[in-house]
Formats: sequence, structure tokens, C-alpha cells
Amino acid sequence: MSAKNLESRCKAVAKSGKPCRAAATAGGLCFFHANPNKASELGRIGGKSNRHATTGVADPLPKLENAVAVSNALGQLFADVQAGKTSPKVATTLAQLLSLQLRAFEAIAAVSPPQNLSLGERMRIAMLKAEKRVEELR
Ligand SMILES: [Zn+2]
Repeated sequence: MSAKNLESRCKAVAKSGKPCRAAATAGGLCFFHANPNKASELGRIGGKSNRHATTGVADPLPKLENAVAVSNALGQLFADVQAGKTSPKVATTLAQLLSLQLRAFEAIAAVSPPQNLSLGERMRIAMLKAEKRVEELR
């Protein structure tokens, strides 16, 4: 390798620790080492165009505290996919998580008394308890 040839190579050291092999510009560095922000900038642009356009800003996630909320979230997910706000790929992942959430509710319900009874159900249970108590007092 002639001195001329060496000089025409970038003088910077690449991230790998080896000398950069790119052709140098007038300053003795290659384009990217002379413009360190350029590479990440181009990377960002590339990343932006590669990324699915619909995964940018998502609506805040609803609280999934019961099966009804999960069902509502699924409905919202369908609507978001149709409207192009959520990519089908992301929706598939979210749907899997929602399914897991539902299974978790089932598992919790199996070991603990239901927490999300309707007013009517709570009234009925309260009435039954009251009736039982009245019978005990008799
Ligand atoms: Zn370089």
C-alpha cells in the first residue's frame, strides 16, 4: 500500500476498533467521520421510512381492570386497525396480551370472590346474607 493510498483512507478508528477503511475526503476523514451526526441522521430517516407509519402515536391505554374493559379494548383495537391507526402486526401482539389478561381474570376469579359484580348482583348477595342473618337471630 503506497503512502498516497494510505492518505486517501479515513484516519478515524471505526467502532469495531479497526481503522476506518472508507475513502477520506479533503479533511482526511471519510464523509461519516467528518460528519458524525450524518450517520445517525440517515439512520433515523431510514428507520422512519422502514417503520410502519401507524405505530407512531398511540392513544393512551385504557385500564384493563375487568373483562368488560378488555372487551372494549379489543373493540377499540379492531377500530384502530381498520382506521390504520394500529398496524395488524401490533394489533396481533396486543390481542394476544388481551387474551392473556382475560385468562388472568379467570384465574383470579377462580381463587377469589368476584370484585366486579353489578349492583343487582351485590343487592341479591346482600339480601341473601341479610336473610341468613335474620334466620340466625330467630
Ligand atoms: Zn471514516
